[in-house]
Order: sequence, then structure tokens, then C-alpha cells
Amino acid sequence: MRADLRIDLHTHSRVSDGTQSPTELVHAARAAGLDVLALTDHDTADGWDEAAAAAYDTGLELVRGMEISTRHRDRDVHLLAYLPDPTYPPLVEALQKVLDGRNSRVPAILARLAAHGMPLAIDDVRAVSGDAAAVGRPHVADALVARGYVRDRDQAFDELLRPGRPAFVARYSAPLEPMMRTVIEAGGACVIAHPWGRSNKPGSLDAAGLAELAGLGLAGIEVDHQDHRPEAREQLRAIARELDLVVTGSSDHHGAGKTGHDLGCNTTAPAEFARLLERAATAAAASGRTTPEVITP
Ligand code: AMP
Ligand code: ZN
Ligand code: FE
Ligand code: FE
Repeated sequence: MRADLRIDLHTHSRVSDGTQSPTELVHAARAAGLDVLALTDHDTADGWDEAAAAAYDTGLELVRGMEISTRHRDRDVHLLAYLPDPTYPPLVEALQKVLDGRNSRVPAILARLAAHGMPLAIDDVRAVSGDAAAVGRPHVADALVARGYVRDRDQAFDELLRPGRPAFVARYSAPLEPMMRTVIEAGGACVIAHPWGRSNKPGSLDAAGLAELAGLGLAGIEVDHQDHRPEAREQLRAIARELDLVVTGSSDHHGAGKTGHDLGCNTTAPAEFARLLERAATAAAASGRTTPEVITP
């Protein structure tokens, strides 16, 4: 593998809460000078085929993945799953539960917004979410913007949609450890997304917590992410080295939906990417499942 490849392993399209179609995202990645892109929409593989077709045409290397909403010791953990067989029945079933939780939350959020004097119809949300498979708070935020209640997604989250605000509603997330097992049985590799999140605090994902997950087959951790300050990145890098975990870096790009997350703003070292692919290949061989190929131009 060339040592100067630019690799971004965490991005979203309109299939979840990004603002670009998978095709637009692939083209934007090429234009941004990336060589390798992973599409990791929330809780769904629905964008994979379109992204794969665009990647073939564009000459971009594409890794098919997803970012799964999980729960671990009373906190939300985002699990990046790379190259699992998306037809593995236990995975399909587990993702469907998460998607059902997303769908049933929307009316509950709208009821709270109405009580707060900001009525929105479900069709207002559908108008902005289009045919997204994974509907989320960012879509409600976009509907609030379209109605003129708020300026942008940030204001919608800060004033209305985040925990502690009037229209916050929790939703179902899949228990982390069984979900990791399911992803691995599906022939995929698991990476914890932004493990120290916005707080830059380890919580249950401290060195000991990550060591337990490594023992359960975790392949890597996303170290270079915009939510991590430099000190957090250095500490996470040291933990990864200690535990022999793959270190990834990525943009968590959401198109125009999230500022400060431009494609390629963080990248993954080619040697780390190669190790991640090895982990996925090992899981795929053990599973006997048909897993997606990495598209290599
Ligand atoms: P949900 O999946 O519906 O629980 O919403 C969480 C999603 O909202 C994640 O993808 C976050 O990236 C996104 N998000 C969180 N805070 C903000 C914000 N202030 N502006 C835009 N997107 C956000
Ligand atoms: Zn998102
Ligand atoms: Fe995330
Ligand atoms: Fe994300």
C-alpha cells in the first residue's frame, strides 16, 4: 500500500443524516483529494450499492461500513462496523430494532416541540429526510430550520434537541457487546467511534474498559476525530499502542449538516488501514459469510 494514501474512514450520506447522496459524497471525496473513503451511515447499509457504483466510476477506493448506535454501561457508544455481511440475519434484525426506535422517536419529539410552541408535522420532517433509512434529530433540526424556528442544526440541538432541552427524547440503542459479536460473526471489523466524545472524558471507555472490549474482538479505536482535543488523542493513541488496537482518523463528514468536519480533516495512516483490513479479512474467513469487497480502482 502506498504510504501517501489519504484515507477517511467515517462519513455520512443522505441515507442517514448527511446532506449529500452517496454519489455526491464519493465525488466530493475525490475532489477533496482522498484516495480511500468509508461510507458509514447510521445503522444502515442502504447507501452501499449507490456508493459502490459511484466509486467504480470515480476511481476511489471504497470501504463499506456503518456507524451503529449502541449502549454500554449507561452511555451511548457509536460502533463503526467495517465490511460485515449486511444480509447476516442477526445483524439485520438488530439494526431493524434500532431503526424502529429512530422512527418511533420522531412523533414523540414532535409532541414535545408542539408543547413548546413549535408545532411541526411529520410531513415537515419527511420533506427534509427524503427516503433516508435512518431518521434522526438532524432531520427534525432541518425541519425546524425550514419552518424558521431556528437558524441551523447547531441552534436546534443547543436549544431544543440535546439532553436536558425541552424536545429531547431518548431512543433505543443496541447493547454494545452483543452487537460487537454480531458484527464479527457477520465477518466485519469493529472500531469504537470517537470514544471520548465531546466531553473528552473516558467514562467507561478508559484503558481498562477498552482492554475488555479488545478482549471481545474490538479491532480499533477512532483516535483522530474533531471531538477529541490533542491531549485526548495522545492518551488514546498510547492506549491503542498498549492494546495493539488499530488507530483510525476520520472526518465524520455530514455534508453541510455539521460544520468543522470537512472530508479529510483527519485521516488514517495507510499502515493502520492495512491492519484494519486484515482484521476484517480474518473475521470474514472465520464467519464463512460473503462480505463486501473493498472497491479498489
Ligand atoms: P440521533 O442519531 O437522532 O440521536 O442524532 C445524533 C446525530 O446528530 C449524530 O449523528 C450527531 O452527529 C448529530 N449531531 C449532534 N449534535 C449536533 C449538532 N449540534 N449539529 C449537527 N448535528 C449534530
Ligand atoms: Zn450523524
Ligand atoms: Fe458518531
Ligand atoms: Fe458519525
